[in-house]
Amino acid sequence: MFSVFSKLTWFFKEHWKRYSIAIFALIIVNILEMIPPRLLGITIDLIQFNELTSRRLTQILVTFFVIIIVKYFVMLIWDINLFVGAVILERKLRSKVMRHLLKMNPRFYSKNRSGDLMARSTNDLKSIMMTAGFGVMTLFDSTVLMVFIIFVMGFSISWPLTFTALIPMPFIALAMQKYGQAIHQRFTEAQTAFSEMNNYTLESIRGVRVVRAFVQESHDRERFAQITETVFKKNKSVAELDALFDPTIKILVGLSYTIGLGYGTFLVINDQLSIGDLVTFNIYLGMMIWPMIALGHLINVLQRGHASLDRVEKILAQKPDVTDPEQPKSISTPEVIGFNRVSFSYPGTEENQLKQINLTIYRGETIGVVGKTGSGKTTLFKQLLRDYLPPKGELTINGIEIDQFTLEETRSWIGYVPQEQILFSKTIRENLSFGTGPISDQAINQILTSTSLKSDIDALPKGLDTIVGESGVTLSGGQKQRVSLARALLVDPEILILDDSLSAVDGETEATIIEHLKKERTNKTTLISAHRLSAVKHANQIIVLDDGKIIEHGTHDELMVLGGWYQEQFEIQQMERKVSE
Ligand code: ADP
Repeated sequence: MFSVFSKLTWFFKEHWKRYSIAIFALIIVNILEMIPPRLLGITIDLIQFNELTSRRLTQILVTFFVIIIVKYFVMLIWDINLFVGAVILERKLRSKVMRHLLKMNPRFYSKNRSGDLMARSTNDLKSIMMTAGFGVMTLFDSTVLMVFIIFVMGFSISWPLTFTALIPMPFIALAMQKYGQAIHQRFTEAQTAFSEMNNYTLESIRGVRVVRAFVQESHDRERFAQITETVFKKNKSVAELDALFDPTIKILVGLSYTIGLGYGTFLVINDQLSIGDLVTFNIYLGMMIWPMIALGHLINVLQRGHASLDRVEKILAQKPDVTDPEQPKSISTPEVIGFNRVSFSYPGTEENQLKQINLTIYRGETIGVVGKTGSGKTTLFKQLLRDYLPPKGELTINGIEIDQFTLEETRSWIGYVPQEQILFSKTIRENLSFGTGPISDQAINQILTSTSLKSDIDALPKGLDTIVGESGVTLSGGQKQRVSLARALLVDPEILILDDSLSAVDGETEATIIEHLKKERTNKTTLISAHRLSAVKHANQIIVLDDGKIIEHGTHDELMVLGGWYQEQFEIQQMERKVSE
C-alpha cells in the first residue's frame, strides 16, 4: 500500500527541502500538542493539593496562550509547504501525461479511447494529488503524533496503564488493512466506470447530430442512464466502505477509553496515580482518536492514490511505436525522396496495404496520387509522416533511410492537409497562424487570396477574428478545408501533402487554388491526391494506385496515351463536367 510513496520518491527527492520543512514544522506542532493536557493535569493537582497561587495560574495561562499562537504559525508553514507540493506534483504529472500523449502514434489512440484518457488525466491525477498532499500530511501527522502521545503517556504517567489502554490498537490496524484492500479494488472499478461514462458522453456529444438524425435520443438517454447507474453503484460501494472506517475506529477507541478509565481509576484508588494524571491520561487517549481516524483516512486516500497512479502509469508505460534513432542524421533540405520496393501493412493486419512501391520524387516536383477509394493513397503519405514503424523496402530522403532522422526533423519538412479537417475553437486568425506564430495581415491576406477564402472570411461577422468550431461559427466543409490548406501553406513547408484535401471544394475554386499552388510552390515539393483528376493534371508525375500497387505512372499526357484507368476516369469526369455546365 505504501508503495505509492515509493513510486513518488522521485518527486519527494526533487522537493526534499519543502518536505523537510513541512515535516520539521509538523514535529514542532506535535510537541506543542503534548503540553496543554500536561498543564491541565498539573493545574488539577495544584488545585487538589491547594497549591495554586495566582502567579502560577498566570504562568500557566500565558504558556497556554503562547502555545496556541506559535502552533497557528507553525501549522500554517506545514500546510502551505505540503499542499503547494501536492499541487506542484499534480502539475508535473499532468505535463508528463500531456507530453506523453503528444508523442503517441495512431495505434495508441485506436487502443485507448479519448474519454478514458481524459478521466485518467483529470480525475486520477486529482486523487494522486490527494495522496501527495493529504496522504503525506496524515501519514506523518498521525504516526508522529501517536508515537509522541504513547511515549508521553508511558513516561510521564504510567507504562502499564498505557499498554492496557492500547490493547485494541492491533485490531484497528487489522481492520484498516482489510478495508484498505477492498477500497483499492472498489475504487479502481469506480474509476473504470467513470472512464466508460466519459467515453460515452464524449461520443454522444460529438455525434449529437447523427443521434438526432436517426431519432436515437431516447435510446441514447436510456443507455446513458444505465452507464450512470453503474457509476453510481460503483461509487456507492466505495462510499459504503468509506463509511465503515470512522465508526470502526470509534468503537475500538471507545474500548481504549473504557479500559483506560477503568484501570486508571483502579490505580488512583490504590494511590499509584494522581487524579490530575488520570485526567491528563484520558485527554491524551482522546487525542489518539484523531490520528487513528486520520490513519483510516490515510489508508483510504493511499489506496485511491495507488489505484489512480496504476491507471496513469499504465498510460505512461505505453511507449510510442516510432522513436528517434540514437544517433540521428540531419540534412539541410530534402532534395530527393525515394521509395524503393516499399511495402507496408498496418499493425494487426495480415495483408500489405502498400505493395512494392517504386517512386522517386525530386525537389520542386508536383506528384499526383490517384486511384479508387481504399487504394492506398493516404497510406502512402503516412509513410512520410512516420506515424507507423518504417515500411519494408527502402524509404529514403537524400539517400538516407527515413528512420535515421528525428521525428521532429522529418515533420518539420512536411505540411499535411488531411481530408478530415481539425480546426481549433479559436479565431480564424489563430487557426491560420497555428504553425507559424503571429503573422502579418499582409501574409494572411495573400494566403486568403491563394486559397480563394477572401470573400468567405469577409462575409463572416468579425472577419478574421471570428471564432470557429464548437464555441463559435460553424464553417462549411469546403471552407474548413481551405482554412486548413491556408494554415499549411503559411508554414511554407518543403513538402506539402494535400490528401484529398479539396474534396469539399467546388471544381472552379479547386482550379483557382491549383493555379496559385503551381505558382507559389515552384521550388518546393507538392504531393496531391484527389478524386477530380483535373487537380493533378499539371503534376510532373502521376501515379495511379490500385489495391496498394502502382498500376500506372507517368505525366498526364503519357497516361492519356496509355489508355488505362486514368484515361477512362479523366474522360468520364470531362463528360460529367460538360453535362453539368
Ligand atoms: P485511400 O486513401 O486511397 O482511400 P487508404 O490509404 O486510406 O486509402 O486505405 C488503404 C487500405 O488500408 C484500405 O483497405 C483501408 O481499409 C486500409 N487501412 C487504412 N487505415 C488503416 C488502419 N489504421 N488499420 C488497418 N487498415 C487500414
